[in-house]
Amino acid sequence: MSVAAVLVAAGSGERLGYGMPKALVSLAGRTILDRAIEAFAGHPELAELVVAAPAGSVETIASTVAAGCRLPCAVVPGGASRTESVRRGLAALGDRPEFVLVHDAARPLVPARLISDVVAALRNGADAVIPVLPVADTVKRVADDLVLATVDRTELRRVQTPQGFRTAILRAAYAAAPELVATDDAGVVEAHGVKVRTVAGDEAAFKITTPYDLRLAELLVSSR
Ligand code: C5P
Repeated sequence: MSVAAVLVAAGSGERLGYGMPKALVSLAGRTILDRAIEAFAGHPELAELVVAAPAGSVETIASTVAAGCRLPCAVVPGGASRTESVRRGLAALGDRPEFVLVHDAARPLVPARLISDVVAALRNGADAVIPVLPVADTVKRVADDLVLATVDRTELRRVQTPQGFRTAILRAAYAAAPELVATDDAGVVEAHGVKVRTVAGDEAAFKITTPYDLRLAELLVSSR
């Protein structure tokens, strides 16, 4: 039962502020995207990889990927939303992979252990699996500068990627909701009535969004 990965890397990176797509920003000498590709292409479970790339950089990225990928690797232009980028990545996947992992390229330091745990839960029968972490801060609902309520954090979780799915189920859920725009893929299968399991996430799989995150990632890479 083979495993494929779709890496979504077509975000603009506006919040990072480098004036270029986030995936192409350098993280300690290599791009964020190269590091994310390495985490998956170098994983023993992986059989196929598709990258949804920023539209203007598909050819450049395709030549880098072709040079460094030991698996069947494809690069497709991403869409205007993350959801659209995932749709395009799924469309480019072959029919054979039983399972698919969808991963934000903006989480380049994802540990191999986390990829293995998500795949293991799929192999143990889950239809959909997401890595989660507890919420450490107190959480409040706020409108303008007024607190509306304090939310009970004990049931809340921060959700990461890779999110893993039985490929046929993820494809069916996306096909059933062609207009849906979601912030993660589990949200799409939840809307389709699929039960989603959780595994323990990992702080190292954090998403690089701001310059602070990039600095943190650089420190982590340099301390390896
Ligand atoms: O914008 P956000 O940080 O939520 O993006 C999460 C991931 O989705 C990033 O890896 C980003 O490159 C990707 N993305 C995409 N296509 C978009 C928007 C985001 O592939 N249109």
